[in-house]
Amino acid sequence: MTTFAPIYRGRFAPSPTGPLHLGSLVAAAGSFLEARTRHGEWHLRMEDVDAPRCDAAAAGEILRTLEACGFAWDGEIVWQSRRGEAYAAALERLKAAGRVFPCACTRRELADSAIAPDGAAIYPGTCRDGLAPGRAARAWRLRVGDARVSFDDAIQGRIDSDLARDAGDFILLRADGLFAYQLAVVVDDAETCITHVVRGADLLASTSRQIFLQQCLGVPTPEYAHLPVVVNAAGEKLSKQTRAAPVDSARPGPTLFAALDFLGQRPPAGLSAAPVAELWAWAMANWRLADVPRGPAPMAESV
Ligand code: GLU
Repeated sequence: MTTFAPIYRGRFAPSPTGPLHLGSLVAAAGSFLEARTRHGEWHLRMEDVDAPRCDAAAAGEILRTLEACGFAWDGEIVWQSRRGEAYAAALERLKAAGRVFPCACTRRELADSAIAPDGAAIYPGTCRDGLAPGRAARAWRLRVGDARVSFDDAIQGRIDSDLARDAGDFILLRADGLFAYQLAVVVDDAETCITHVVRGADLLASTSRQIFLQQCLGVPTPEYAHLPVVVNAAGEKLSKQTRAAPVDSARPGPTLFAALDFLGQRPPAGLSAAPVAELWAWAMANWRLADVPRGPAPMAESV
């Protein structure tokens, strides 16, 4: 039997480091509405690859909150913590193709590295041509060489990146033995045949790295749409670290309303206290990706 990949397969990929907040609900709602209004599938992936930062209780809470908000996903949930073999196989392919190199550098040795626009340290190339005698590999990095990556983001427009300048040779297998987020995302998006990635613009700088990695692995590049990021009054992205208020599972409607409003959809004020089913009915009939604003905007968290 021949199976055909669907025209549209989207996903939401939360990291279970804490409860869902307005910022994560924006990413969930944006990816869900775009997928469903295009008659596509919407999958869920728990990005618990960074095990020390994740906890099972947070994952369970995220699932309960998504259900309380009225999200329904297709297929089985993918748990990154169970996918080590797939990541190891991808790394082996990259080793065989000479795309990666072992790195012995410690964090302290890299402390003076140049910093990429997204805050990542740019690898100075110390181990790129081989480990110095007596040094042992701690991590594995991808060689970016003089690669340039360009793509058209459905919200942010044309993005051009010079990887040596914007990212440097980035880590795929960390010194603590864990696979890096970039590798896990690329392997998972490819194996689950994700065709469209709709997520927060805080990940925009990762996208060029991920597209380059897709090219190295010979897997397709999905379409991308990066949603504006919700920031608090101090201009910080909402997160567990900035103590973002969790979505209230007992009464998620107001936060869903705020998420739709933030996404430029202008839900009618009369729905601000409506049950989630009514909000979804309105959103499904009225969703327009073209109305989503590009930039971040401060948002009251008291919704
Ligand atoms: N797990 C990432 C986050 O919660 C999202 C990754 C992605 O959508 O590619 O920020």
